[in-house]
Amino acid sequence: MTLEQKIDKAIRNVPDFPKPGIQFKDITPILENHSLSKEIIESFAKQWEGKIDAVAGVESRGFLFGFPLALALDIPFILIRKKGKLPYKTVSYKYDLEYGSAEIEMHVDTVSTGMRVLVHDDLLATGGTAEAAAELIRKEDGFIAGFSFLVELGFLNGKERLEKYSNEIECLVNY
Ligand code: AMP
Repeated sequence: MTLEQKIDKAIRNVPDFPKPGIQFKDITPILENHSLSKEIIESFAKQWEGKIDAVAGVESRGFLFGFPLALALDIPFILIRKKGKLPYKTVSYKYDLEYGSAEIEMHVDTVSTGMRVLVHDDLLATGGTAEAAAELIRKEDGFIAGFSFLVELGFLNGKERLEKYSNEIECLVNY
C-alpha cells in the first residue's frame, strides 16, 4: 500500500461535524498508529530537507505533525495561534471569514528576515487559514518556502489562493 492509501484508510470521515453539511476529516486514528505517523514525518522530512529554515504550525492540528517534522529536520518550530493564547509580545494578522473575522498571532522574535518558513497544517480546505499564516510570516519579513498538509479538499480550490506565496504546495492525500 502507498502512503497515500494508508492515510486514506486511516482517516475517519465524520458527517455533519461541526455543523450540518460538513464532512469532517478526523486524523486522530493516524495519531494512534505510530508507524504510520512516523512514515508521514519521514515523507515530509524527505520533501523539505535543505529547503527550509523553520516549520510554522497552525493551531492546533498543525502542531501535531509540524513539531515532529521540525525535530526531524533539526530546525526551529514556530507556533501560530489564535489571538490571546501566546504569553509574550506578539505580531498579529486579522482576516475575513464567511461570517465575521478571525485573528492569528505569533511571538515577535520567532521569524527573522529572509528565514525560509514552511507553513504546515493538517488540512487544506479554502486556504484562508494558511493564507493568513503566510501573511503573518511575511509581516515579519520571512520568506514562504512552501506549504504542507496531510489532506487537501481539492474541490475547494485552496491551492489557488496559496500560489501567490509559493508554488511548493505538498498534500499527501487529495479528496
Ligand atoms: P481553510 O482555512 O478553509 O483552508 O480551513 C482549514 C482549517 O480548518 C484547518 O485548520 C483544518 O484543520 C480545518 N478544517 C476545515 N475543513 C475541515 C474538514 N472538512 N475536516 C477537518 N478539518 C477541517
